[in-house]
Amino acid sequence: MSDIIRRDPRAEWIARNRLHPLHAAMQTQQTRWMGPNGLIRKNPHAIAAGFIGPAGLKRIDRSGAQQGTGVGGRRTAAAEVQLPLHQVPAPAFYIAVVPDMVGGRLSSHDRDLLGLAHGLAGSDGAVLAVVFGEHKESNFSTAGVDRLLVLEGEEFEGYAPEQLVQGLRAVDNQFAPRHWLLPDSRSGGGELGRRLGASLGERPATRVWQIKDGQCIGRAGAGQQDLQRAVPRLILGAAECAEPVSETRHEALPVELSTSVARSLSRIEDLGSVAVDPATIAMAEAEFIVSGGNGVKDWDLYHKATAALGATEGASRVAVDDGFMPRNRQVGATGTWVTARVYVAVGISGAIQHLQGIGACDKVVAINMDPGCDMIKRADLSVIGDSSAILQALIEAVDNFRSGGQRDAA
Ligand SMILES: Cc1cc2nc3c(=O)[nH]c(=O)nc-3n(C[C@H](O)[C@H](O)[C@H](O)COP(=O)(O)OP(=O)(O)OC[C@H]3O[C@@H](n4cnc5c(N)ncnc54)[C@H](O)[C@@H]3O)c2cc1C
Repeated sequence: MSDIIRRDPRAEWIARNRLHPLHAAMQTQQTRWMGPNGLIRKNPHAIAAGFIGPAGLKRIDRSGAQQGTGVGGRRTAAAEVQLPLHQVPAPAFYIAVVPDMVGGRLSSHDRDLLGLAHGLAGSDGAVLAVVFGEHKESNFSTAGVDRLLVLEGEEFEGYAPEQLVQGLRAVDNQFAPRHWLLPDSRSGGGELGRRLGASLGERPATRVWQIKDGQCIGRAGAGQQDLQRAVPRLILGAAECAEPVSETRHEALPVELSTSVARSLSRIEDLGSVAVDPATIAMAEAEFIVSGGNGVKDWDLYHKATAALGATEGASRVAVDDGFMPRNRQVGATGTWVTARVYVAVGISGAIQHLQGIGACDKVVAINMDPGCDMIKRADLSVIGDSSAILQALIEAVDNFRSGGQRDAA
């Protein structure tokens, strides 16, 4: 097993949230330590060989399997706490969710939507996730999926929105969901949801950020206004439209379509992806950003690394003020608010103004010398070390990968 200490943001969030039912289980409890006089002190109340059950009761584990708290004394949510299982044996109705599954995994936007679906399903309904093609997701159950329908086939591959709508129409015929939920995103959900609405002859509620008392509120007027209306069947949810599911485990039982999906007329031909220069992508739309700050000591190396990684360049205000990067690359409160799937901060301390600009990023990677800086606290993955050495290592790793690992073999 690797020695790399991996953070578990969910466990950390629960550990901070004193109202969460699993809060106590996430506290690292010292059972023995040395007092100021050199005496060994013991905490008789600490749970030495057990865990807190879903109902908040202490459970003793006599198998010994639970002893020790793992790497660095941390507890991880998945490893040690079994969330209560939410079961819907005979769903009274379905809430269908079509996640974007960018990169084959649930995005944070998808999880927010599943949280919203869970609220609409209540205890009688089941959340049905409809996924097209192969995926790499293994956490459907903790994301709130009661039933999972995977539609596979070469007809769904690539850019085939009309065929996807045919698939959703087949799901609609079989499961007759009470609501359809899709992410109102640029990653596919926004377009697919509108196409589904046109196909079903139903008007969707778009950019919805709240559903309450049978009413939904969505952004309108170029984000300047809110539009309130009765909740329709088809909902296109904005990011952060609801809290993701975090307190229950779900069955994610596989279900299948009983009929085959009709083939759509191939009015659209997918000619494949077109390579674009990452430097020309608008910061707000970039999916992969590598930003440089005051801790970047070799800017030529930084540019070489971003080119090798195919990343869009960003910067902290200090890097911009010092003239190393243009003003339009500044990320943060007084720069651009970015929504990248992966944001790499090289030598950036994590001042609040900078963190505000990356609040919507999915995964943050920090490269920094200071393990206690705020960017490391925010990051999902941290690399502690000198920026130049790490950028150089990254370039070599990319070169090695592109040459098919031949340099390793040599
Ligand atoms: C009104 C206002 C608005 C602002 N708006 C913004 C904004 O929009 N965006 C923004 O970014 N800032 C903004 N700022 C500035 C912000 O407060 C910080 O000053 C700035 O973000 C710091 O930039 P930095 O992290 O690159 O530099 P520093 O704070 O100097 O941090 C440098 C980091 O690099 C690390 N480091 C040093 N050497 C190395 C090395 N060799 N290898 C690896 N790491 C190393 C250090 O440990 C440190 O963490 C604003 C400030 C104000 C007052």
